[in-house]
Amino acid sequence: MNYCSHCGSSQLQWMIPKGDHLQRLVCEQCKTIHYQNPRIIAGCLPVWQDKVLLCKRAIEPRYGLWTVPAGFMENGESIEEAAIRETWEEAYAEIDLKSLYMMYSIMRVDQLYVLFRAELKNLNFHAGEESLEVKLFEKNEIPWKDLAFQIVEKTLENYFIDYEQNYFPTHVGKL
Ligand SMILES: [Zn+2]
Repeated sequence: MNYCSHCGSSQLQWMIPKGDHLQRLVCEQCKTIHYQNPRIIAGCLPVWQDKVLLCKRAIEPRYGLWTVPAGFMENGESIEEAAIRETWEEAYAEIDLKSLYMMYSIMRVDQLYVLFRAELKNLNFHAGEESLEVKLFEKNEIPWKDLAFQIVEKTLENYFIDYEQNYFPTHVGKL
């Protein structure tokens, strides 16, 4: 940030505001404190019988690698709406949201992943603009070496263990 988004001043200074304990970018002109906080990624693990739906990324980063439908939550939508929207945009998949499945802090990039388990309503899915291909995978077909992110790997590992027990708790953790 080079200019204050509140008053347009370029007089921005890193400092610890009174009562705070972390360095913040503060506008010396209008005194606005520009907090920077983790961003929320909302998404789904869509399933159909014993298969899971993955999307092959058509965008950077990790072009050509497989992921679950997920993306940045927007202002004005709930976390469930964001997960459903992302799944539609990336896979044109119609889903029934089930339980909250993964809530993981990704420390390196300051992101919080919130993924729901979701059941596909039908098999009319197809690739959205951000996907090269959208496909159902059985456990033994998962392209483990071509997964886009560690969180995807973790989600799938958990899912196939939980699927055996038919018990799907919420997994909370960090990577
Ligand atoms: Zn300002």
